[in-house]
Amino acid sequence: MRDLTIEPATLPPACEALRAEVRAFLAEAMVDVTPAMRTRNWSGASAQFSRQMAARGWIGMTWPRRYGGHERSALERYVVLEEMLAAGAPVGAHWVAERQSAPLLMRFAPDTLAPRIVPRIARGEAFFCIGMSEPDAGSDLASIRTKAVNTPRGWVINGRKVWTSGAHRAHYMIALVRTGERGPDRHAGLSQLLIDLHATRGITVRPIVNALGEHDFNEVTFDDACVPHEHLIGREGDGWRQVGAELAFERSGPERYLSSTQLLLEMLDAADASNPRDAVAIGRVVAHYGTLRQMSLGVAGLLARGEQPMLAAALVKDQGALLEQAIPDIAHELFGGRAPPGSTLAQAMRDTALAAPSFSLRGGTREILRGIVARGLGLR
Ligand SMILES: Cc1cc2nc3c(=O)[nH]c(=O)nc-3n(C[C@H](O)[C@H](O)[C@H](O)COP(=O)(O)OP(=O)(O)OC[C@H]3O[C@@H](n4cnc5c(N)ncnc54)[C@H](O)[C@@H]3O)c2cc1C
Repeated sequence: MRDLTIEPATLPPACEALRAEVRAFLAEAMVDVTPAMRTRNWSGASAQFSRQMAARGWIGMTWPRRYGGHERSALERYVVLEEMLAAGAPVGAHWVAERQSAPLLMRFAPDTLAPRIVPRIARGEAFFCIGMSEPDAGSDLASIRTKAVNTPRGWVINGRKVWTSGAHRAHYMIALVRTGERGPDRHAGLSQLLIDLHATRGITVRPIVNALGEHDFNEVTFDDACVPHEHLIGREGDGWRQVGAELAFERSGPERYLSSTQLLLEMLDAADASNPRDAVAIGRVVAHYGTLRQMSLGVAGLLARGEQPMLAAALVKDQGALLEQAIPDIAHELFGGRAPPGSTLAQAMRDTALAAPSFSLRGGTREILRGIVARGLGLR
């Protein structure tokens, strides 16, 4: 069996100064953000909030200046992210673009698409969605059927994506599509395309209402939608390798254990300090937060050193989702009979309980992540 070591990263003093700056910003910017909105965590979206962050240089913090970035460290970026998430800030509009779309474009289309699009992401002007899952292809992503054909006009796309978070507010999608035959290598023949959702005809975005009764994800249909040749990201047929790199970004951040934080804060407010049951249960959760934060920070440290911590990121996401999902259950055990109806605690308990099942589905299911961990440890 192979070893897995996640060295704890230490935050340099500059990070703590930045933390104070972010907290001061949040104290003002969050005045009108309701507790219900905070409970949405990074699913909550406000284009105006994203632009406020951009104005402070907090989108694209680590990117090169030539792409509109700010050339700061991955650990500084981590501090901004964890403060935003802990406060329940509505960061969802730019989240996907910042976390994975821009890094993908800079890596695989550094001279063509990235100089044109990435500075707009850094300014909080271009939002993205992820077009991977399809009605019959989620965990088994290699079996996608959306097809793009290379014609003299450009890439003509036909097919259907599903569960596409934020497609209704995004300007672009990065879609994984089939551009060649599957053949004996089931990962062959896949490519990634940049799709301008506003400028391309033949695209229909239909809402899918989630368990909370809200519109966050969508079904996106392509009927002869045509995108320019230069919107191919990287090389034709390299889609599978590129998606692997993208998923490492998608799984590595602190959002993978902080989704239920607003509920935890409500629980802390409502807890009775003289009641050992409250103290033990909440103390245990907070201890888990401490451990996961060290692990997550360790992953940020590995990324900062240019490593690709697929295994460590999968582990943090799996363990993080377990904690995020346990919190509503613990809240119901402790406060089920006590939370006044209509209180912010009762609302956070309800909303987090309804959102929680998705935590171990989005970004790769629990079983898939554990498969990655097992493979990484040499167990399969
Ligand atoms: C809130 C939310 C937001 C999302 N946003 C996006 C988005 O923006 N873009 C996008 O492309 N997708 C998005 N998704 C889709 C998500 O990536 C898929 O739901 C996920 O990959 C699982 O695919 P599936 O739903 O088809 O389930 P399936 O793959 O059918 O899995 C069903 C169950 O079977 C298990 N299973 C599947 N294969 C195996 C196996 N080989 N071994 C063991 N168990 C297995 C799974 O773990 C799961 O429990 C989102 C999902 C959610 C819940």
